[in-house]
Amino acid sequence: MKKTEYDLVIVGAGPAGLSAAIYSARARLSVLVLEEAAPGGQILVTDLVENYPGFPEGISGAELMMKISEQAQRFDAEIATEEVTGLDLSGPVKKLRLSGGEVSARAVILATGASPRKLGIPGEDRYYGQGVSTCATCDAPFFKDAAVAAVGGGDTAVQESLFLTRFVDKVHLIHRRDQLRATRILQERAFANDKIEMVWNSIPLEVKGGDAGVESVSVKNVKTGEESDLKVSGCFIWVGVTPNTAFLQGAVDLDENGFIRADQRMQTSVPGVYAAGDVRNTPLRQVVTAVGDGAVAATEASHYIENSF
Ligand code: NAP
Repeated sequence: MKKTEYDLVIVGAGPAGLSAAIYSARARLSVLVLEEAAPGGQILVTDLVENYPGFPEGISGAELMMKISEQAQRFDAEIATEEVTGLDLSGPVKKLRLSGGEVSARAVILATGASPRKLGIPGEDRYYGQGVSTCATCDAPFFKDAAVAAVGGGDTAVQESLFLTRFVDKVHLIHRRDQLRATRILQERAFANDKIEMVWNSIPLEVKGGDAGVESVSVKNVKTGEESDLKVSGCFIWVGVTPNTAFLQGAVDLDENGFIRADQRMQTSVPGVYAAGDVRNTPLRQVVTAVGDGAVAATEASHYIENSF
């Protein structure tokens, strides 16, 4: 970090955090963006983003985030690789303890996003990285011409299963109901793809394997109670997301699912503290809504700083 005092600290460098950085740096605030991993967030591992306006042919998640990150830095937002290990947001000067020191700010935007939710079944942790995965772009090539299982019925499960079919021989898509939640266009593509086999009304019970990795996934049909084993060498789990809010330790109000409560101005329960993107209690978790949240949060934070100090 170049300084220890900033106008605004943004926690998280995904689409929401970086969009907030562009808006606040252009408002000439001194801005620090904290990111514990590489800038980009969850979208970084998405093969193709087709619904972000301005890219008629689609764009890879990694390329989109590289462009957004470059844009933020062009306007002098500082991005630091730091983990927030403690914080005091209650007073007019917000204090954040980091892995590499301490910083203070007049306003804070929380944009820490969400992470893939776990199923909590036996074998899931044991074989994570050895056949169990949440990232098709990272791991699909390991399953060339193999059969894999995928779990979930939302946009992620269907879009990523479609991506898997470029490599694998068969995707058994296990869904707990008999209708997908995913967007219609993705459903149509999945149903038209003969490498995707739907395993309807079913939940996975266990990921089984040996020393070399996953060998099967046992599934139960919730309608008939029948149990069976799918012979697969991989199991991709896409059953939604869980918000990255543990580090907050009660600093702002959360909803019943752990997402940060924020109003339409992205204001949280604490004055001068805003939330943006997937970590917020929002009805839609997309890049396009995250960047919108970031813009609103940055504008509101800028007004707050002007009026409060
Ligand atoms: P999601 O929309 O919450 O879907 C989660 C899926 O997992 C649902 O089908 C759900 O079943 C199933 N599920 C949840 N818990 C389960 C459990 N314990 N056992 C078995 N199945 C379980 O999550 P997502 O697909 O990760 O999407 C997250 C957000 O990102 C959404 O807002 C989505 O629109 C967005 N996204 C968009 C795109 C795109 O636009 N192309 C791509 C990826 C993600 P039920 O349907 O029965 O609830």
